[in-house]
Amino acid sequence: MALGAPVGWLLLSSWLGDPGGGIWLYVYLTLSTLIAFASFGYTLGSKQDALARLAAKDALTGLVNQAEFMRTAELLLALSEREWTPLTIVMIDIDYFKQVNDDYGHLVGNEIIKEVASILEECTRRSDVVARFGGDEFAICLPHTGRDTSEMVSERIRERVQENAFEISGNSIRITLSLGVSEYDGKSVTTVGGMTESADRALYRAKQEGRNRVCFRNA
Ligand code: GH3
Ligand code: MG
Repeated sequence: MALGAPVGWLLLSSWLGDPGGGIWLYVYLTLSTLIAFASFGYTLGSKQDALARLAAKDALTGLVNQAEFMRTAELLLALSEREWTPLTIVMIDIDYFKQVNDDYGHLVGNEIIKEVASILEECTRRSDVVARFGGDEFAICLPHTGRDTSEMVSERIRERVQENAFEISGNSIRITLSLGVSEYDGKSVTTVGGMTESADRALYRAKQEGRNRVCFRNA
């Protein structure tokens, strides 16, 4: 086994003489050949599944990575368009994270990134897509969710992180987040790329306006 998937099979058997004539030998050989082929197919399938799962995930947090986020969000956007349901994307960035790394070290920084990822998952629905976009930046796609609810969710995330004391290696660390929200409107933002860009611009505004806040994209 490797990475939870079988990488090979070994069939062991013994042949203790000929109990009932040549037919048994024939049955035995046919069955073992069938088992060997079936196992080989299963092995290949499992390996491909394991590799696909790894390629879609961020190694540190276990969240989906940017590429997988974009793929999934495209699908959800297509569904929203078809069903006339709202959809929002929230971009999130940790405030002054370089300073945290400088003060406590990169490994402590990694633990904070992991805990932030858990908080994001706790604050969202199973049907939402939570991704580590890269570095200290995260993204969430909220299907069936319009501006009001997504701003409420974003505000809840912001408060949860602000109130949380990150207890790591004997340190009690406080951090805050800035968040930018963009809603699909079928006019000015019509693609996932456009939505992440406008949510990123709103996030930039949140940084400019003092950090630790949620900003909605300009029309
Ligand atoms: P700002 O409020 O403007 O976001 O300030 P910032 O210091 O957070 O700046 P920025 O977001 O541009 O920098 C992110 C930093 O996050 C840069 C890098 O030192 C750190 N970082 C990126 N990836 C990782 C990681 O995987 N682990 C750790 N520990 N730090 C990371
Ligand atoms: Mg940052």
